[in-house]
Amino acid sequence: MNSKLRVTVWGENVHEHKNKLVAQAYPKGMHTCIADALNKDASIVARTATLDQPEHGLTEAVLEKTDVLTWWGHCAHGQVQDAVVDRVQKRVLEGMGLIVLHSGHYSKIFKRLLGTTCSLTWREAGEKERIWVCNPGHPIAAGIDKYFEIEQEEMYGEPFAIPNPDEIVFLSWFQGGEVFRSGATFKRGNGKIFYFRPGHEVYPTYHHPQVQRVIQNAVRWAAPEGKWIDSCPNVPADKAPEKITARGPTLHKAGEAGLR
Ligand code: ZN
Repeated sequence: MNSKLRVTVWGENVHEHKNKLVAQAYPKGMHTCIADALNKDASIVARTATLDQPEHGLTEAVLEKTDVLTWWGHCAHGQVQDAVVDRVQKRVLEGMGLIVLHSGHYSKIFKRLLGTTCSLTWREAGEKERIWVCNPGHPIAAGIDKYFEIEQEEMYGEPFAIPNPDEIVFLSWFQGGEVFRSGATFKRGNGKIFYFRPGHEVYPTYHHPQVQRVIQNAVRWAAPEGKWIDSCPNVPADKAPEKITARGPTLHKAGEAGLR
């Protein structure tokens, strides 16, 4: 029996074909680099899916066999089909974990699940990012020192228009002075969601050992704990846990949908 955590690494895979710098940093694509990093963890088996595949590689069958989905997108958020977004949202609510990376803050799925604009401030100046651990006891920070640094990154700054996270695991400081809530957890339905900031496409960020460690930790943290298929069943009086007599002006018959 294969008890490994099944991860699907979704990559937009557009910049890699348009920008020489991105192709140099990620000859096989950012998604492959992330999947390779995850596959170094013996408890994880990661595969990839990309925008250009039928149904963006996220068919019902693929998602059914996905415990945790990671998401990187930037310039083609608008090309992601709404039907696929609906499908991913449904799986998250059932219990599938979701790790949203960097510019995925503006993806349809992240905005849908969080319900806010998810806007932020930004600057591309190749500056240093220092990522501070806010809770050393959190499983997503396991194996990470007080902080780690990325020599060159894009700056993301506050205000970050997200709902208040369940927990902020990392806080970033940038050389230019801004700070940003760069590692934040949420829960929607039964699904655990983690947003992790680093990963601008022109820098080799996903080769960074601590970045890889955080993503491995996050995937394990987001593993489903159970599956719940959301529905809205009517419970007729004769099926109530205690014996009652149905009464009142609007009686629904067994099996008939009630008012919602
Ligand atoms: Zn970026």
